[in-house]
Amino acid sequence: MRDYTTVIGLEVHVQLNTISKAFCADPNIFGQEPNTNISAVSLALPGTLPVLNKGQVASSVKLAHALGSAINKENRFDRKNYFYPDLPKGYQITQDKLPVCVGGEMTYVSEGHEKKVRIHHVHMEEDAGKSSHDLHDQYSMVDINRAGTPLVEIVTEPDLRSAQEVHDFIAALQQLVRYLGISDGNMEEGSLRCDVNVSVMPSDTDVYGERNEIKNVNSKKFAKTAVEYESKRQIKILEAGGTISMNTLLFDPTKGTTAPMRSKEEANDYRYFPDPDLPPVVLPDSFIDECIASVTLLPWTANTLLKEKYGLSDYDADLISREKPTVEFIQQFELPTKSYSTLASFIANQIFPYINEMQMTLSDLNVMNITNFITLIDSGKVSRSGAIKSLSSTVLKEINADLDIEKLAHEHNLIQSDDQDFLDAIITEVLAQNEGKVKAYQSGKKGLLGFFMGQVMGRSKGKADPKVLNEKLGKALE
Ligand code: ADP
Ligand code: MG
Repeated sequence: MRDYTTVIGLEVHVQLNTISKAFCADPNIFGQEPNTNISAVSLALPGTLPVLNKGQVASSVKLAHALGSAINKENRFDRKNYFYPDLPKGYQITQDKLPVCVGGEMTYVSEGHEKKVRIHHVHMEEDAGKSSHDLHDQYSMVDINRAGTPLVEIVTEPDLRSAQEVHDFIAALQQLVRYLGISDGNMEEGSLRCDVNVSVMPSDTDVYGERNEIKNVNSKKFAKTAVEYESKRQIKILEAGGTISMNTLLFDPTKGTTAPMRSKEEANDYRYFPDPDLPPVVLPDSFIDECIASVTLLPWTANTLLKEKYGLSDYDADLISREKPTVEFIQQFELPTKSYSTLASFIANQIFPYINEMQMTLSDLNVMNITNFITLIDSGKVSRSGAIKSLSSTVLKEINADLDIEKLAHEHNLIQSDDQDFLDAIITEVLAQNEGKVKAYQSGKKGLLGFFMGQVMGRSKGKADPKVLNEKLGKALE
């Protein structure tokens, strides 16, 4: 069998979180009773006219800025005509010839490697309603609530090369739209959906094969499975001497397979033309500047900031930059640089589990109390693990009053005395009770130091300063 390369390009639809719909004042909300969030415009009653939502344009410009796309200061809406019961107007308002932005590039990380995907363009459009064919045994159900929801569609160049890359790229885009605050990126609710174009080519050529387009994939895992299945299917056909024909496919999540929805011959002819109801969109420089100025933090700038300003490791920086509120939370602290890594692990190991359980958010917490606690831990006056174990929940629970952390540490008997002489007695005792292990240590099993450390630490109830203990034990054992 020949070696094949899988080539993938994505068309990603992102529902924007504007207050109202794209071309009318219906609220832009998810999860309402079917056919309640509609108006004459959503229903396309005769005589209604669309009015552009400024928020949709602002979101697109912010996205364009983040992707390094060129913004078309004059862009235009077109009609994409097709007949379907969930599309009351009989056409979708979209951008065809002159989209809001063109070009650009996005860097993301897949399996530890930095990868780049070029962006072909980004355009604005509206969502259709939703048809359900499995709710009733005789009828298809149509819900118009979603009709008119503002979307941006991000079309990539065919730069992705594996199912895993597709998964990781979608995750990165999800993170980006959340950072920009333009969408919740929630794939289960359909806020982010992809059409996945897949082709395969023998690895010793660079001529792309014919592609198949898998429509409306609404999870990263499905996208990954769909690409894996589809590339195997195409390779099998080529290996058997067949050819790939261009099809539109649907992914079946329960079987993990793709199946044809329509072939190129039955493909729609959308008869695009400029929408006469909407004038061209002309973007003043001041509007563009305002949108750009509002983009203060992006996933990659956050990551660099955490490493350079706060001295975090790659691992901690990745963890903290996953969500923007965590970065904003850390930015509120004033600590010596070396203490931010203590704070980062406190966030990961104590704060996240706590706020999840209590259904709180980071902004509910008392930054001052946490600052004082981190300062105490890093002062060396207490045992780190002892203090975290005994005081974390008090520190996190007290969100209103300022705590006297030092006093609390005293009350919990956590302060390590500067005088560590009490350790000598414990060390003598531990060594006497473990003569065999002492001999083993002396004959070369140096790994046993950990065992002795643990014993003494336990008996000192965590009050031993690990550095002092380490020194004292080393001497005693020799
Ligand atoms: P259309 O307008 O018919 O959808 P486009 O040229 O706009 O066609 O391509 C749509 C998507 O298909 C883009 O995301 C692009 O990257 C992807 N694509 C194009 N050619 C290939 C190919 N040979 N293999 C995989 N994806 C492809
Ligand atoms: Mg397409």
